[in-house]
Amino acid sequence: MALNRFNINEIRKQFPVLDQHVYGKPLVYFDNAATTQKPLCVIERERDYYLHENCNIHRGVHYLSQMATEAYENARKTVAQFVNAKQPQEIVFTRGTTESLNLLATSLGQLLVNQGDKVVVSAMEHHSNMVPWQQMLMRSKGELLVIRMDKKGVLDLNHYEELLKQRPKIVSIAHISNTLGTVNPIKEMIAMAHKYDIPVIIDGAQSMAHQVIDVQDLDCDFYVFSGHKMYAPMGIGGLYGKMEWLEKMPPYQFGGEMVDTVSFEKTTFNKVPFKFEAGTPNVGAALGLETAVKFIQSFDRQEVEAYEDELLEYATEQLANIEGTRFIGQAPKRNGLISFVIDGIHPYDLGTIIDKMGVAVRTGHHCAEPVMTFFGIPGTVRASFAMYNTKEEINIFVKAVERAANMLK
Ligand code: PMP
Repeated sequence: MALNRFNINEIRKQFPVLDQHVYGKPLVYFDNAATTQKPLCVIERERDYYLHENCNIHRGVHYLSQMATEAYENARKTVAQFVNAKQPQEIVFTRGTTESLNLLATSLGQLLVNQGDKVVVSAMEHHSNMVPWQQMLMRSKGELLVIRMDKKGVLDLNHYEELLKQRPKIVSIAHISNTLGTVNPIKEMIAMAHKYDIPVIIDGAQSMAHQVIDVQDLDCDFYVFSGHKMYAPMGIGGLYGKMEWLEKMPPYQFGGEMVDTVSFEKTTFNKVPFKFEAGTPNVGAALGLETAVKFIQSFDRQEVEAYEDELLEYATEQLANIEGTRFIGQAPKRNGLISFVIDGIHPYDLGTIIDKMGVAVRTGHHCAEPVMTFFGIPGTVRASFAMYNTKEEINIFVKAVERAANMLK
């Protein structure tokens, strides 16, 4: 495939939503960690599906059903190839990261976690990678072990090693923190857990759009993600799992599609991945996800990553000039986002005022309340970037923050 030149004007044309005014000001969209905007090709793919192809899959003998089934399974192949899975069957489609993690807490939990057992997460997890484990462990009277981090937002690997020595049954950690931007050394952390034969789940919600993911090279046991954070529609995402695990794991939800034979006495289950995909899936969104993957692949990934790093560095430099700015998350390796507070100003007030200036950022605890507790703050202002953002937008954002801070002081 010929690669698109990284031409920011051409890229922005693909995202008409960016070209609008809010409160009479040009929109600056820096809430990409919450969800990215969708390019025209993705919107058109989903629209086309409903215009010409819509049908329930895997069950019809008629033309449309067969076409839709083939398209859905091709989408699985594309995603598998994107993360370098060994085979398409190692990709299970879900609603997104949250559902994938709930699936794992339930199913892998049932397979591996007995009364009193332990699971390891890190101090910087999103609630989605913490609450499902906590709830599962409450039922099994087990213990959640939490890898410590330092004030820069860097995980303490010595502490991690200590926790591994307690023989937890599962490790589940974020690749990139959605509050701090820290890029965790997951390859090293996976290898450390494997020395103790402990499977590792990686929460890739914040990484798929920004980094090249190779699940075989990482050797992770599971990698979970959300389509809507990587230019795809909402309501679709997935999990990669090593076939050895997926085959052993019990189903998560029960119903149509996931069964093989059913009688009132006994049910046998379909094979992987269908065993984990009960009911009618979001076919249109899966096709949108496939198109989003192809969209990302149509660029030189290194070039995109370098550009996004440049935006992050520039935003950090510019914000640092504003009096009282304190960055929350100063790990040497960060990606995609910047979290900060300004002394004496509530992040919510700052976010509300700059919104009126056309700048969309996220304020609050970002679904990671324990992180806020650790830093002793109510929340942060988070600006998160995508490939379509520009330095000019950063200039507008920084000026807005400066003006708002002066108004609030
Ligand atoms: N994990 C991380 C690191 C996230 O950033 C998010 C979304 N903010 C989630 C999990 C949950 O993703 P979703 O809401 O798409 O299921």
